[in-house]
This record gives sequence, C-alpha cells and structure tokens, in this order.
Amino acid sequence: MSARIIDGTAFAATLRGRVRNGVEALVRSHGVVPGLAVVLVGADPASQVYVKNKAGRTVEAGMRSFEHRLQDTTTEAELMTLIASLNADPAVHGILVQLPLPKQIRENAVLTAVDPAKDVDGFHPINAGLLATGKPGLVPCTPLACVMLAKDVLGSLEGLDAIVIGRSNIVGKPVAQLLLAESCTVTIAHSKTRDLAAVCARADLVIAAVGRPEIVKADWLKPGATVIDVGINRVAGAELGKMKLVGDVDFKACADKAGAITPVPGGVGPMTIACLLVNTLRAACAIAGATATV
Ligand code: NDP
Repeated sequence: MSARIIDGTAFAATLRGRVRNGVEALVRSHGVVPGLAVVLVGADPASQVYVKNKAGRTVEAGMRSFEHRLQDTTTEAELMTLIASLNADPAVHGILVQLPLPKQIRENAVLTAVDPAKDVDGFHPINAGLLATGKPGLVPCTPLACVMLAKDVLGSLEGLDAIVIGRSNIVGKPVAQLLLAESCTVTIAHSKTRDLAAVCARADLVIAAVGRPEIVKADWLKPGATVIDVGINRVAGAELGKMKLVGDVDFKACADKAGAITPVPGGVGPMTIACLLVNTLRAACAIAGATATV
C-alpha cells in the first residue's frame, strides 16, 4: 500500500475543535448560542443513529440541540407546521430534516419550506442556485467535506482534472460545483457515461458518489491520483451473517495506485457531521451579523 490514507476521523475532530472555538467567539461577541434543530419522522433505525450522533456532536461543540421525533403517520401539513415554527424560532439557526421521509410526505415540498438562511443541509433551491452561480450560501455537508479533504491533501486544486462519479442533487452536482469554484476542470460521470474507466484514468482527483460497492477499480486510476470515496455500502462480511461497510472504491487495490485515498469507514463519513456543525455556526453568524471564523 503506497497511498497516503486520508484520516477523516482525525480531520473531523480538528474541525469540530475549530467550530467549538467559533461558537465561543460568537457567544462572547454577540451573546448568541447557535441552535440546531433536527427533525426525524418515523423510526428508521439508521436515521435514529444519525440523529443521536448529530445531537451529541452539536452539544459537544457548545451549541444547543433541539430534537423533534415525529410518528411515521405524521402528515405533510403537520410537518410543515413544525418547520414554520422552527423557521420563526430565534433560538434555532439550523434546521435539518432527516431523509428519507415517509411516503405520504413530499420531500421537495418539505426541503423548500425550510428558511434558506437556516438550511444547514444546503438542499433548498435558493442555496443550490447560489452555489451554481458562485455566490455565498449554505453548501451541502458531504460535498463540503470532500473538498476540504481534497484541499488538505493537495493544497490548491487549481487546474486539476477532477471526475465526480454520480450526479445526485445531494452529492454529485454540488461537489462538482465546488470543484469548479476551485478552478478544477470537472467531468461529471453517471450511469450513462461511456467508458467510465477511460474517463476516470485522466483524473488527478476522483470523487466517487455512486452507491455501488467497490465499483472504482485500480486500473481506472491515474497513478498518484487523489481518491475521495463518498460511498457507504453494506455488504456481506467474511463472517457468516455479519455485514460490513465498504465504499464505492476498491480500497485495497486502489491504495497501491493512488497518491492519497479515503477509507470507508473513517473518511468522508465523520467529516459530514463536522461540516453540519460548520454550517450551523455559519448560519448563526450570518443571522447575528457576525463574521464566521470557520
Ligand atoms: P444516488 O443514488 O442519488 O446517486 C447515485 C449516482 O451514481 C447517480 O447519479 C447514478 O447515475 C450514478 N451511478 C449509478 N450507477 C452507476 C454506474 N454503474 N456507473 C456510473 N454512475 C453510476 O446516491 P447519492 O448521491 O445520494 O449517494 C451516493 C453514495 O454516497 C451512496 O453510497 C450513499 O450512501 C453515500 N453517501 C454518503 C454520505 C456520507 O456522509 N459519507 C452522505 C450522502 C451519501 P444516474 O444519475 O445516471 O442514475
């Protein structure tokens, strides 16, 4: 294994420390404690774990955490009423609606109802539009995490050939916009891309956000490329009946060819929650008229 293994867990711990310092500065300068409201509808086990982790990290960072757990029979109108009250609540600076939502609730309608100034997931069309037009706004957490990790390894990304595999609104498209803003030459690949291996082989920076276990192979990579693996896939482990997590990249083989690579778990995942805290602090600073220090 010759690649540098990018330690997302350690980077995230450092970033959370910077957020904590930023929170203390905001409390001192403006008397404002940032507050993050997380809304969970239903009892999806994975979502419950995410929400618990987010709440714990929020409190550790010196912020207020507001958890709203609703029954899976909640109607769209009831959820909209809650969002309207969170939009109006001065103690709440960030609102995150945990996805997926039960099928009686339209995801787009709910995400569009969140006040764009409190949209710490960065999914509101106004924030998507600000990102696309290169203006300041709240940026989705996982894409922000990818670019922070890439910049930590490479410094400036200017002029690099980057490929983003995946074009979802949550990861692929926003990460491509961020890389463009860093002056990369960006290719966005997807399920209809012809000869993905050949397109990938030109890239200095590979961001894989596909949701297909270990689809990115070592012989697709340019030697020395930096590889950021967003994928989280549950597959059968070596032990009978046990599952394990793998990314979208064939980590073991790619680590022999890449210059730097993120592991799964321990790469992008922990950074995503840290970036949620960054966004909450930035939202609180913007609402308070303070300059964000992270
Ligand atoms: P989506 O399913 O919304 O998007 C997947 C994208 O991959 C689509 O654009 C699809 O193309 C493309 N794709 C699918 N199959 C292929 C293929 N064979 N070749 C090339 N492209 C392909 O997924 P998300 O963007 O929401 O998530 C992607 C992965 O990242 C998932 O594993 C998810 O769990 C993980 N994730 C991790 C996070 C973290 O915190 N680490 C946060 C968010 C997501 P097309 O558009 O043509 O269908």
